[in-house]
Order: sequence, then C-alpha cells, then structure tokens
Amino acid sequence: RVHSDHKKAARPQSGLSAHLIVEPHELTKSPAPSEKNYYQVYSPYARRWFELLKRPEFSKRIERQKIGLNYLTIPQVKNDLFQIKWSEALGADHTFTDSLIKFDSENSKNVHIKIPDAGSAVAFRRLTQFADHISDYGKTRDFPDQDGTSQLSIYLKNGSLTTSQIVAFLKISQLNYKSETGENTFLKEIVWREFYYSILYHVPRVESESFLEKYHSIKWQNDERLFKAWCEGQTGYPIIDAGMRQLNQTGWMHNRVRMIVASFLTKDLLIDWRWGENYFMKMLLDGDLAPNNGGWQWAASTGCDPQPYFRIFNPLLQSQKFDPQGNYIRKYVPELKHLDAKQIHLGATKGYPKPIVIHAEQKSKALALYK
Ligand code: FAD
Repeated sequence: RVHSDHKKAARPQSGLSAHLIVEPHELTKSPAPSEKNYYQVYSPYARRWFELLKRPEFSKRIERQKIGLNYLTIPQVKNDLFQIKWSEALGADHTFTDSLIKFDSENSKNVHIKIPDAGSAVAFRRLTQFADHISDYGKTRDFPDQDGTSQLSIYLKNGSLTTSQIVAFLKISQLNYKSETGENTFLKEIVWREFYYSILYHVPRVESESFLEKYHSIKWQNDERLFKAWCEGQTGYPIIDAGMRQLNQTGWMHNRVRMIVASFLTKDLLIDWRWGENYFMKMLLDGDLAPNNGGWQWAASTGCDPQPYFRIFNPLLQSQKFDPQGNYIRKYVPELKHLDAKQIHLGATKGYPKPIVIHAEQKSKALALYK
C-alpha cells in the first residue's frame, strides 16, 4: 500500500533499488516538485524510461543485481531495509519451523489450487527458458493458448526475481523504444508495470476511486447474479468463461484475456471495476495493487491513459481473433471440447449456459452510462 506518508520511507536510503528499475520520483516531467509533475500518458513516460536506462547510474544499478548463469548459486543481495531476524518478527517463543507449520495448517484449507514452485532458483529457471524464445514475444504474446509470455509476474510480485536481474540477464544490445524486437517489446511491458507504480505513487487516491474524476459518478448496475456468473465462469461467453476458469484453477490469467474479461465485466455487465479488481486480488497469485488497479482502470476507461470509453471489446470477435482454433477455450471449458474451431466461439451446445446478456444491447447501455 502506498500513501503519502510512505513516500519518503519508500525511497531506499541505501541507494539499492530492487522492486523497480526506475523509481517513481526519478522519472518526472521536470525536476521541480509540483502537483502534476508526473507523466499521465504511457508513451512519453516509456520513451524517457528507455533513455534513462542508458545512463551510467541506471546501468550500474542493473549491473549490481546481475546474477550468474548458474541460477542455483544466486548471491545474496544485501538490503539494509530488510535486516530483521525471524525471532524479532515472530516473537521469541516461536521458531521459524513451528511458525511455518502453523501457518500451513491454518491456511492450506483455504487453498484450492496447485501452488507453483516458488523461489529465486525457479524464477531464474523460468527466465532462462523464456529467453530462448523471447524473439517471438511480439508475435505470440497475445495468444492465450501459446506459451508466449514470460509468466514471471508471480516472481516479480513477491521479489523472487527483480526486473534489473531480468534486464541484466537478457543483455539487450540495442535498447530502443521504437524497436519491435522481442526484447524491446517485452521491456515495454515491464515499463507498463513501472508506469502504474508511478501513477499509484503520485496519485494514491486511485486505490479507491477512478483516476478520471469525471467518472466518479458512474451509476454502475452492480447486479450480484451477473457478478457471480462472471466469477464462476458461467456467463455463456466461452472466452470469458475460459479466462475466469483459468484464474480460478491456476491463480493466473493471460494478459489478453484479463483485458477481455475486465471489459466484459464493466461494459457488458455494467459492474463497478472495483468489484473485478477485488476478485482478481483475491484469486491472482501475481495480484499486485499497482498493475492490477492500472489494468482495471485501463479496461474500464476510468484510468490514466485508458482505453477510450467508446472502444468496447466484442467478446466474440476477440475470441475468434486471439484463440482462432479454440484451443484455449477447449482447455478450460471442457463442455465445448467437441465443437469445431468455428462453432466453439459461440458456445451453443447442451450443458453450457446461454449468454447471460446480449452484447449489442449492453454496449448501447454502456455508452449511455459513460456519456
Ligand atoms: P509478460 O507478458 O511476460 O510481461 C512481463 C512482465 O511485464 C509481467 O510479468 C509484468 O510484471 C509486466 N506486465 C506485462 N503486462 C503488463 C501490463 N499490462 N500492465 C502492467 N505490467 C505488465 N499484472 C500483475 O503483475 N499483477 C496484477 O495483479 C495484474 N492485474 C491485471 C489486471 C488487469 C485487468 C489487466 C488487464 C492486467 C493486469 N496485470 C497484472 C498485467 C498483466 O496482465 C500481467 O502482468 C501479465 O499477464 C503477467 O504475465 P507474464 O508475466 O507472462 O507477462
């Protein structure tokens, strides 16, 4: 959680920046502090970010966190901010093992998914696998049935891996905002993460309200029955249901599908983006306030540099475009497995729900609501 009191404390005193490469106070429009000194649009922010990275202080920062090719011998990163002993954190009566066993027995009953392997070694292994096909990232990243993205978000969220370590490992020879190589395209996504951290830092009120004040008074319909169907992946829209079931079963969802289900919740079901944001935080293993809030407000058109409100995703067209063979739907909605690549997007079959709303009708209602 970031709020104004924490601003000072959040700045690493030791000069070691780990969670972000560029800290929010390091990339502002001008050095003089003022009300609207932060970037509100992604592309000029990203252009400056790429320029900053070429400066010695940032390349040194990245170099300092470099880890060796052998990911099993990760050197300890000394961080003065986190020098605390287990006995201080847990109280003198508890050993670390006791506390771990207690925590596990109290919490495991609430966990219904297979937790992926954790830790820096696993994160680094995933990075090395991803680096082998990063050149294809631009071509494959939008297709949820392919292993086209890094799936490093969980490790970035909990600090098993840092973005500096990723950049150092990838050894990007030509840092260039305009370039569309896999590496540069991938880096631009890392920049989205830092952009949303910057927004949360400079405008902490986004945590509970729309960035765009003109949308504070939107009268969301907030129908609990429709919300339940969305959460459970029972909307009768195959791509939406596949996404929500992927989230419920694995604790992760592909970015393209996050955008589709978020647009559907807000602009088809007319439900407040904060309901969706909360549900994501509850279910995602990579749930992270800044990018989650930024992603939701982008999709709901209430955020900083958002999707324009009149650009409303058609779930059928999105499904046909980004899951052309229907393989992603087939994986998570087995009731539709037998349908061919054309029929599967419609989901018209026995044993599968009928669409809970009609997209064309809801689109008109959404446009009226935003106007
Ligand atoms: P890759 O494509 O491999 O990208 C590499 C890294 O860049 C990611 O790990 C992530 O740290 C960052 N990144 C990628 N895309 C974005 C983006 N659009 N915005 C900000 N950072 C990005 N990301 C989270 O980490 N936590 C969240 O809680 C979260 N909630 C989201 C909610 C919605 C509605 C939307 C539309 C997006 C959300 N994202 C969130 C962003 C994005 O979907 C995930 O970061 C991405 O899917 C993680 O998979 P990956 O590691 O394979 O991504």
